[in-house]
Amino acid sequence: MSRPAFERVRVRFAPSPTGYLHIGGLRTALYNYLYARRLGGQFILRIEDTDRSRFVEDAEADILDSLQWAGLDFDEGPDRPGPCSPYRQSERQDLYMDHALTLVERGRAYYAFDTPDELDALRGEDAATGGRYDAATRLGLRNSLSLPEADWKERIAAGEPWVIRLKVDPDEAVTFDDIIRGNVTFAGTTIDDQVLVKSDGMPTYHLANVVDDHTMGVTHVIRGEEWLPSAPKHILLYRAFDWEAPRMAHLPLIMSPSGGKLSKRSADRLGIPVSVKDYMKAGYEPAALINYLAFLGWNPGDERELFDLPGLVEAFTLERVGSAGVQFDMDKLAWFNQQHLKSLPAEKLADRVRPGVAAAGFTPDGTYLVQVADVMRDRLVFAHDLGTDGAYFFEDPVVYEAEGVAKRWKEDSPGLVAAFADVVDRLDSFDHDSLDAALRTLAESRGVGAGRLIHPVRLAVSGRTTGPGLFDLLEVIGREACVRRLRHAASSLGVSA
Ligand code: GLU
Repeated sequence: MSRPAFERVRVRFAPSPTGYLHIGGLRTALYNYLYARRLGGQFILRIEDTDRSRFVEDAEADILDSLQWAGLDFDEGPDRPGPCSPYRQSERQDLYMDHALTLVERGRAYYAFDTPDELDALRGEDAATGGRYDAATRLGLRNSLSLPEADWKERIAAGEPWVIRLKVDPDEAVTFDDIIRGNVTFAGTTIDDQVLVKSDGMPTYHLANVVDDHTMGVTHVIRGEEWLPSAPKHILLYRAFDWEAPRMAHLPLIMSPSGGKLSKRSADRLGIPVSVKDYMKAGYEPAALINYLAFLGWNPGDERELFDLPGLVEAFTLERVGSAGVQFDMDKLAWFNQQHLKSLPAEKLADRVRPGVAAAGFTPDGTYLVQVADVMRDRLVFAHDLGTDGAYFFEDPVVYEAEGVAKRWKEDSPGLVAAFADVVDRLDSFDHDSLDAALRTLAESRGVGAGRLIHPVRLAVSGRTTGPGLFDLLEVIGREACVRRLRHAASSLGVSA
């Protein structure tokens, strides 16, 4: 049976609400989103919440917030009803049970009554197979399938605990063509008779996932490599139902910079945040994180690196996703953050830096902040850097960098800086070019190189040795503050130098 008729590509992001959305999950969501948007298809959010023991109360809200922050809007989902509502598995339970019973009726699945002790014994029995519950177990008449229908009905009626398992034929190999990995084959002997319905009546991930992907018309399953071992089980389920399986694409593992898979533990050790929420809090630009995650497994095949979301939609193909693990690199992410920040129009940049400036205790007026943001755009890695690195835009320097003073503040600096203050005070027009010209004229008249003024002037107005272009800085700070700061430094630093 082919899947329900939807005309377009349909993909889904299917997180389990067992914790806050992590960056690997956001990458999976992103690739699904890009694939759907690129092909004019639909992107579904499905909440896989059948495992109640690992359920985390606010995880779903966090998933929704994180996707929204990242700009990945979905077409159908828990709060966006669609043709396959509901989109939370806990609200679709009857569907799974009905489907499991269909398989039992068709002889493709069976009730099993093994007790926990029996299963433990099985595990101990065969260390080589890890105590696999497969045809050997089943046909060894331990239980279940070989029982005539009347018998298992009787045992169920008697209240014996049961599970429903898929009947896997050990002679049946599973091969499928993964879009990223090519042909992948699993021998039937390596696949156990997986549980479909647990003793509490809840479906397992495998059953619910397959039933939903089919009934929701999912055409492509795009998910992390850690789900590759589940793929043959899913394909056997599709066969048992006589359904067409979706195409599959298993994304490369995200590796730790120190080698191995990036686990919560290794990430913690290296100071790499794992939850999307932590990136939000740390002040990353969502567009930068998205751009970075897009490159964590994919590249456009040319030199381009900076993309916004629409640009990614245009450039993205699954064919250009590699299969080898990719290392997480915080420095590269910081670089993306810097690039995205500096490409913002000045007004937007001012909006981004405002909270950090306020947190540092400053409440500049809007026009001034736009000017400051504009001159500082090349120097910010994070939006909140302005509140700390650019505090001198909002208050006179309180301290002067000691090293800078030692190196740049010469014997003649107080005199030169005081003279420059007088020149600035009398300038006809106070702007970048006239400040530049005035400083050079003064240096010349005093018989010194321009550097002899440039460095002490910067120190005097900002307390620092580095910053944006000096004349831009002076122009933004304004005549009054410049003159005041220059005179103050000339007298206070003049004594100590
Ligand atoms: N619920 C699974 C997860 O948490 C979904 C895996 C899949 O995409 O099939 O990632």
